[in-house]
Amino acid sequence: MCSNLLYKAFHAMGVMYNKPIMQIDQLIRSQRRKTIALIIDQEGRLIVRAPAHTSRRKIEKLVDEKSAWIQRKQREVKTRPPAARPKIFHNGEYFYYLGRVYPLVLSKRLKPPLILNGTFSLAESACEDGRKVFSEWYRERCREIVTERAAFHARRLNLRYRRIRITSARTRRGSCSLKGNLNFSWRLVMTPREVIDYVVVHELCHLKEPNHSTKFWARVAAAMPDYRTHRKWLKDYGQKFSL
Ligand SMILES: [Zn+2]
Repeated sequence: MCSNLLYKAFHAMGVMYNKPIMQIDQLIRSQRRKTIALIIDQEGRLIVRAPAHTSRRKIEKLVDEKSAWIQRKQREVKTRPPAARPKIFHNGEYFYYLGRVYPLVLSKRLKPPLILNGTFSLAESACEDGRKVFSEWYRERCREIVTERAAFHARRLNLRYRRIRITSARTRRGSCSLKGNLNFSWRLVMTPREVIDYVVVHELCHLKEPNHSTKFWARVAAAMPDYRTHRKWLKDYGQKFSL
């Protein structure tokens, strides 16, 4: 209540003195820009990109006009689940597969060194190479699942791709080359099947529309009417899925 009143008072002052209430954490000017862009980074800082000669006054006016949007974005960043901590491959640690979590159990002797059967069992001798063993396991599963889903959706949507490559990309779950090759990160296989399907459909649609135009999104919507749910899920939780 009190802070709200204070905010209102400051806001009134801001309008009066033509000063924005929002703090600009970084202002980046460039010759090539034509418009002003407001960006909220991972830490919730406000970054403004502006053309070289735009006046400070004009920038501050825009920031003031967009203050509700800026505050909403900053709140979103603060309430997002923290990025997953790097794994240490200890007993009881949790690992994702197809959107579900499974605890890790270390075993004295095991061949192959990693098995999923209700829990993830990892050979004690493979612990030091845990990251490599897990990523290879994910890579194999990802190849199987994505190959099957891409064939399924391509047939259904009457699209043709050349080949599928499994990458280690951390943030890009999928991409599509101009030659018609599809790339998917093995990290994708940690997410639920519906999300995998969305990423596959998304990349398949790039075969026809190599950009994110309205035409592209219309094609995705026609191919997968509930794609927005999965896209939002990926945006909200995608970063939790790391090793
Ligand atoms: Zn895309």
